[in-house]
Amino acid sequence: MSIRSNIEHITKLKNEAAERSGRKGEDVLLVAVTKLHDCDEINEAIDCGITDIAENKVQEILNKYDKVNPVRWHLIGHLQTNKVKYIIDKVVMIHSVESLHLAKEIDKRAAQHGVTMDILIQVNSAEEESKFGITVDETEQLIHDILDNCPNVRIRGLMCIAPWEDNPEDAKVYFDAVKKQFDQFANIDHPNLDFKYLSMGMTNDFEVAIEAGSNLIRVGTAIFGNRDYSRKMGE
Ligand SMILES: *Cc1c(COP(=O)(O)O)cnc(C)c1O
Repeated sequence: MSIRSNIEHITKLKNEAAERSGRKGEDVLLVAVTKLHDCDEINEAIDCGITDIAENKVQEILNKYDKVNPVRWHLIGHLQTNKVKYIIDKVVMIHSVESLHLAKEIDKRAAQHGVTMDILIQVNSAEEESKFGITVDETEQLIHDILDNCPNVRIRGLMCIAPWEDNPEDAKVYFDAVKKQFDQFANIDHPNLDFKYLSMGMTNDFEVAIEAGSNLIRVGTAIFGNRDYSRKMGE
């Protein structure tokens, strides 16, 4: 399967899932997850119409940034505060904010660059020990703390990585919980809060996530094939 036919296939499934949930295909953004894939593959995906790509490591963004054609970059992996400065002028959105400490560092670097950085709060809906993110119940407090302390940060929504399930339908309960929390903030009027993105769904579960209300899916394997973890592209 070629990258082009994979993207066409995923786009079709994405659009159908959006329609099943009463929306239009274009209302759900397909973000291509490019970690451990090389710049030629990424540029091919961009040629096929991909507008947004995501990496989970800062170092991998830096290694690839100049060799990839113009595109919107997202950071979706755990971010250490000492690395925020390297990507503040490169990414359009950071999906993995889970502490005030990190939000404050993003705020500081955004101010230095004269930008407002869009962020998502990462929710660990299933409360898995192995995953980053805060619990659904903790989101409200963190959102208020960020709004009180970080004038150069704009909170755009929530992100969730569901547990791997053999039957992706079993992940629906976790997506539903995050969607419910998302809706609580959707109509709040604050200059630094503009809930627009619910980032949920990967290769295994994106259709279930869309049916639960996701409007941004992060898909890697189904576009580029399996990742070769022996490859050294990052730190
Ligand atoms: C790797 C990754 C993805 C993509 O996973 P696939 O199963 O390859 O589609 C999505 N989100 C995050 C946060 C990731 O790290």
